[in-house]
Amino acid sequence: MSYFINTDCISCSACEPVCPNQAISEGTNIFVIDPAKCTECVGSFKSSQCAEVCPVEACHTDPGHAETKENLLSKWRGLHSGQTPASGTY
Ligand code: SF4
Ligand code: SF4
Repeated sequence: MSYFINTDCISCSACEPVCPNQAISEGTNIFVIDPAKCTECVGSFKSSQCAEVCPVEACHTDPGHAETKENLLSKWRGLHSGQTPASGTY
């Protein structure tokens, strides 16, 4: 399932550059994650980079976007055409 950013976000921007899918952008009041691009970092990293760097623990999985690992890897392949997913990340 994709991640989402809750209202604890202090708009520090630390998460934006670490997302391998360019899924994070600055919203009106807080940063936001595009669920169409978030793969839980499947395909790129073994753990969710946004959640790791966030200083206020504002990044959480979104039960409203439930997806299997296979779904997430398929999404990653769509975003990174012709590339090979990193081993151990899916
Ligand atoms: S979990 Fe990974 S892919 Fe999803 S928004 Fe965070 S850094 Fe990007
Ligand atoms: S790292 Fe956390 S506090 Fe900073 S912009 Fe991202 S979600 Fe917001």
